[in-house]
Amino acid sequence: MPTGKVAVFTTSGVPFDIVELPTPEVEPGGLLVKNTHAVICGSDLHGWRGDGDEPIPPIRKLTGHEFTGVVHSLGNGVETDSLRRPLQEGDRIAFPFFNPCNRCYWCIRGEHHACPHRGRWRTLEQHPYCDAGNADYYYLPQGHYVFKVPEELPTDAVPPVNCALSQVLFGLERAKMDFGDTVVIQGAGGLGVFATAIASEKGASKIIVIDGQQPRLDLAVECGATDTISMVEYPTPQSRVERVKELTHGVGADVVVEVVGVAAATLEGLDMVRVNGKFIDIGNIGGGSIEFPAVKVISNQTQWFGTVHYNPWIIEAALQFLVRTMDRMPVTNVVSHKFPLEKINEAFEFAEWHGREGGTTANRVALTM
Ligand SMILES: [Zn+2]
Ligand SMILES: [Zn+2]
Repeated sequence: MPTGKVAVFTTSGVPFDIVELPTPEVEPGGLLVKNTHAVICGSDLHGWRGDGDEPIPPIRKLTGHEFTGVVHSLGNGVETDSLRRPLQEGDRIAFPFFNPCNRCYWCIRGEHHACPHRGRWRTLEQHPYCDAGNADYYYLPQGHYVFKVPEELPTDAVPPVNCALSQVLFGLERAKMDFGDTVVIQGAGGLGVFATAIASEKGASKIIVIDGQQPRLDLAVECGATDTISMVEYPTPQSRVERVKELTHGVGADVVVEVVGVAAATLEGLDMVRVNGKFIDIGNIGGGSIEFPAVKVISNQTQWFGTVHYNPWIIEAALQFLVRTMDRMPVTNVVSHKFPLEKINEAFEFAEWHGREGGTTANRVALTM
């Protein structure tokens, strides 16, 4: 088997290390991916910065989860993708970056997103190492899910499919957003803009997008936002909540999607949900805390959907969504800057600076392998 370069992450503030490691033997039912593109996701930056309340324990591991590649080698018995379409070496593929076990309490109920054994986050002491995107290779073990990328899609469009796009699509599906719903999207980064486009495709009557950066709000409008709330114009949580109430005739939103990644956004978003409405909480995985009287969600009868990961069918639905909407919305031109894997430290610095300067989902930073 080939060896490949991997970028090793230790903890925030410590530069990535590039090392060469062996790839695993491809077992029957397995698939070795030659990674081609990995996009730097907001959640990668949270870890790199060290945004959580607790310091990250210094364990050497691989990172990168928003990525794509081509088939390098197929294990015995693997001849098709998960929809039984023939698969060959060199085919472009999309796949979840976690592996549901298919034999547990959650998996047998079809709740792959909640499988407690789905993680692939090992340390460098545990073989096989090919378990992340910021590396030359990725290993899909037996029982994996994999989908051929439609020919129409540019490869640059594919990395966000297994993270940002599938995540918000699953969130909205899981909460059963209805045709005609009023939807608030908190945050117009990668996830927020995709959530806007999906809510629009699903027939939302109003899509109110909140962000502090005008270029992001402009992009959200191109993806179907009917109203925007600039955090410059509405600088306090209370003013934004009031604006949402105004725009929804005093009712509040049917669905609020939190994709900010700051704990305070959850507190604010909960106040925007109408009585008996839905709150889809996705962004706050950084570990920040909030405190509020429990009665806030009880008397409001809020349906609160904490959401991490998705079920495998979402990947195919996301790919088809891109094919269907790419001519109408800027959903596929998502990468503006590319760095080779060896320059990962520069790439993270650049992504950080770029984000602060008003970077949008249309000009994200990708690593190429
Ligand atoms: Zn991500
Ligand atoms: Zn399972």
